[in-house]
Amino acid sequence: MQLNSKQMELINRQIQRLLNSDSYYGKMYRELGIDGVRSQEDFEKLPFSSKDDLRNAYPLGIQAVPDNEIVRIHSSSGTTGKPVIIPYTAKDVDDWATMFARCYALAGIGKEDRIQITPGYGLWTAGIGFQLGAEKLGAMAIPMGPGNTEKQLQMMVDLQSTVIAATSSYALLLAEEVAKRGLKDKIALKKGVIGSERWGDKMRGRIKQELGITLYDIYGLTEVYGPGIGISCDAEDGIHYWDDYVYLEIIDPVTGKPVPDGEEGEIVLTTLVKEGAPLIRFRTHDLSRIIPGECGCGCKYPKIDIIKGRSDDMFKVHGVNMFPSQVEEVLRAIPGVSSEYAIALGWDENTKKDVMMMTVEADYNYSFENLARTIQEQIKSRIGVTPKVNIVPVGTLPRSEKKTKRVTDYRY
Ligand code: ZN
Repeated sequence: MQLNSKQMELINRQIQRLLNSDSYYGKMYRELGIDGVRSQEDFEKLPFSSKDDLRNAYPLGIQAVPDNEIVRIHSSSGTTGKPVIIPYTAKDVDDWATMFARCYALAGIGKEDRIQITPGYGLWTAGIGFQLGAEKLGAMAIPMGPGNTEKQLQMMVDLQSTVIAATSSYALLLAEEVAKRGLKDKIALKKGVIGSERWGDKMRGRIKQELGITLYDIYGLTEVYGPGIGISCDAEDGIHYWDDYVYLEIIDPVTGKPVPDGEEGEIVLTTLVKEGAPLIRFRTHDLSRIIPGECGCGCKYPKIDIIKGRSDDMFKVHGVNMFPSQVEEVLRAIPGVSSEYAIALGWDENTKKDVMMMTVEADYNYSFENLARTIQEQIKSRIGVTPKVNIVPVGTLPRSEKKTKRVTDYRY
């Protein structure tokens, strides 16, 4: 999707803001002699920014305004090495709240709603983003934070929460508990706003069914405000994003070249009005595609597909590249199998071969032996790798309040 003239003007202002600062990117742009962009072509020549840059600039090297304008920081948890710190001005915080409130509104959530917020509060942007948006909207925020399932269920019943904000994995855990305790008639949930994690349709189906709610996927990342830069709508066909706050490109993760609208690739984001830490062409590693054309819901904001996975989630078995989303596609089509699975990768010294072990949850009413064989055959024919499959009863694998780790590699 091409830059419009307003976005181009805003990007030039972001570049000026960087050049006028002593920040990491200000210095980089001065050294590279970048002073602005006049065309799409110019823009596409700008260097990418990455999480590595932000680590190099740790702790506050990317800050592009004086200290007295910063009102808050957030941090994204690095799985490896140093975390990343993002400074926010008062306007950045307010812009984020505005975007988040817009997300709630698109999901049909309003002032009369009671939003039970289960993502964590603190350095990461999850809980506090849901809270800011709820307050901006004028809804009642119930700031639970993660864990303590007993209390979550008690509040859900006593306060008659109408909206649950959660990761997909925690929403699943709550849904299972509600079913197990027969609480479905005592709760008043109507909608779920689920954090930006790739999750399969099977899991979605179970949460929807157990809780009797409509689900919305919210998108965002700490480096670019946090969750709330986009959300799915009632057309259930992709995520609208706020192109007055971010410019979104889809690139080929290998060549770095933008791909045509509609084609899958990696999301690259440019902030349009950020003050504390403007980011130009930030590589998210999230995989999606632009969905061209108008949405059935009537919303005019552009749309991307549900996040398909991360370009860095790819794993290799016997030289075959695989994504968790491919595994999920196979499992989804097999009756009796739950949405939950785990993959362990090992090395067999005797055969000198990679070993792929899958643990998959299934319903008691199905033959575990038959299911294991079906899964093995399907994975082999669809992906080209023969896994060892172990079936366990539903509820065996851990449910996490954060992102679920599907693949563990023991080979190195
Ligand atoms: Zn829509």
